[in-house]
Amino acid sequence: MGIIKNYADADNIRISWYTKKTDLLGPFLRSVLWVQGCSRNCPGCIAEHTHSPEGGEVVLIGDIAKEFIAVTETEGMTVSGGEPFHQADRLCMLTGEIRKSRPGYGLIIYTGYTYEELTASDEKSVKELLGMTDILIDGAYVKELDDNAGLRGSSNQRVIPLTDRYSEQMEMYLNPAARKNSMEINGEIFRMTGIPSQSSKELMKKLGII
Ligand code: SF4
Repeated sequence: MGIIKNYADADNIRISWYTKKTDLLGPFLRSVLWVQGCSRNCPGCIAEHTHSPEGGEVVLIGDIAKEFIAVTETEGMTVSGGEPFHQADRLCMLTGEIRKSRPGYGLIIYTGYTYEELTASDEKSVKELLGMTDILIDGAYVKELDDNAGLRGSSNQRVIPLTDRYSEQMEMYLNPAARKNSMEINGEIFRMTGIPSQSSKELMKKLGII
């Protein structure tokens, strides 16, 4: 079965939400995009609200690109989800559009697929997106392997540099001090940015969010 699912019409991408500037998900200040739609159903996933392929909202890729280009203090974006590679072709378009204005724009992706699953795919845009990516954090989140360390959710997930762009910042991915998150509740809408610490997860449990 293929990886690409295409959850929106051409020129659009289905997203859960985005933030234009944060220091919580990778080196330096970054924009972050959470795509909508994931078919993987990993047990213990704390992002269930991003799974439905009909959920979230459909937005024009050009509009998101403009928003991210305009935030000149950022040096790149992080993409999480949902499953980014289900919409790899749209993310290639988005990254390409941003890099027309900002050629040095960095790209970090969190995926539930393993690197081997992605490189075994013969889908053109999966290969193309891997070719645009600076760091890939791969593999499903496994609750039992959550060691509360750094910027990846569980110890099975690998932080794979696909370029040398962030070679001097790689230590933060395993540094417990780098694990930080913010939470925001607005009516029925809950937003979390970052990788949650144990205490944040306990708080979310108390609030009935997970
Ligand atoms: S791939 Fe990510 S978003 Fe999808 S179910 Fe697994 S942990 Fe959740």
